[in-house]
This record gives sequence, structure tokens and C-alpha cells, in this order.
Amino acid sequence: MTNDRKEDVRCFCCGETSEQLGLSRSSQLGVRDLDLRSGMMPSTMGRWLQECPNCGYVAADLAKGDECDRLFVQTEKYAALCELPQFSRRSSRFLLRAAIELAREDFERAFDSTLCAAGDADDCNLPDIARGLRKIASRYLAGRPLTVDLRVSLLDVLRRVPDWAAAAALAVELMDENLGHPHAAIVCFQLGRIEARDDRCYTLSQVLRSNHDPEASNDDAEHLEHVVLLGRLKRR
Ligand SMILES: [Zn+2]
Repeated sequence: MTNDRKEDVRCFCCGETSEQLGLSRSSQLGVRDLDLRSGMMPSTMGRWLQECPNCGYVAADLAKGDECDRLFVQTEKYAALCELPQFSRRSSRFLLRAAIELAREDFERAFDSTLCAAGDADDCNLPDIARGLRKIASRYLAGRPLTVDLRVSLLDVLRRVPDWAAAAALAVELMDENLGHPHAAIVCFQLGRIEARDDRCYTLSQVLRSNHDPEASNDDAEHLEHVVLLGRLKRR
């Protein structure tokens, strides 16, 4: 449910107070893409992050942050990032947030935020930009130890870049592991799409209904989407 109520929020970085829209976490429950991250409702996506009109700090809650965030937002580098031309306000916020997360070496969240910007590029019908952002996001995870959940997300990103060789190698690696549900179904589906050289967007529901478990009800698929998403929210 979207929270349309405006509230005064004091910026953690500069101390200025500004009026911001609130957003409850339940509004993030929408149809999920196979990267398990970027398939959110476009109408609510713009409210995932708040932006300080004074210093440009971007966060889910402007009142929160750490000293690393405050120092980075004061740099010339961050000021230059705020001035870069962007194709949408929403993507700009996600990319600024990704820069803040990179500065604190939180590569998983930078990956997540960059994928949100890629999802926005999809919504704006800018496929080349979306592919470029997914490529950048995938580099944030290169060479790092990753959870199965994150590797399954990365698999979808690599397919959509597309980097067929890297996607196939990761899919085969995952197929050799004893994955549980719904990861096994997703990887099986991804392998088929990679072999077909298909870089289109698919949702988790489509995979669960059409590929692996044709008798699964809509309620089952939606329940699984929520289970996957709640796992993600716990990490944040
Ligand atoms: Zn500020």
C-alpha cells in the first residue's frame, strides 16, 4: 500500500529539513522479474528513495545514514554525479544511491540500486541504456563470494546484458548444485532461454506457472514471489 502522506524529514548529511513522501515497504510487493530485484511497480518505484533538495543525499530514509555517507556526499565527485544528465528523476536517484553504496563498499546494494535504474530504463523504452546499466551492475559482483540468491539474480542480469558465455557458464555451475525451490526452476528456465538466445524480461510467476509446475495456482506463484522478496528485505 502506498503512503501518500508527506512528512518533514531532516537530512542526515546536511541537517536541512524538507518535505518528503513516505512509502510503506508493503508497496514493494509487486510482480518480480527473474533478477528478483527490479520488477517493481513503476508507479511506486519513484518513491523508494528520498532526495535532499539541499545537498543531494539520496536514501530510503533521508534521516538515516552513516559517517561514510556524509563524507561522500560532501565530495566534488558526488556533486559532479548530481549534475550528470539523466533520462529520468527516478533513475538518477537510484544511480546516486548506487554511488553512495559503492563508496561504503556495499557492492550487493550497489548492484541492487543499479538494477532498479535499469528497470526504469526498461520502463522508459531505452533498451541500450538498460543493457549498459545491467552490465555495470554485473561488474559490481565480479570475483566476489555470492549467496545462491545473488548468483541466481546475476544469472538473469548476464542473460539480459546479454553475455551468453558468462550466463551459460554460471547456469551450468548452478545446475551442478543441489538447489532448492524456486532456484532450481529458475536456473532450468534460464538455461533454456540462454540456449534460445532470448534476452527478454520474464517474471518469476511466468517461470513457475509455465516451465516447472504447470499445475501451480496463481496463489502458489504469488506466495513464492513474496517468500523470495521477504528474503531480500531481510538482508537490507
Ligand atoms: Zn541534505
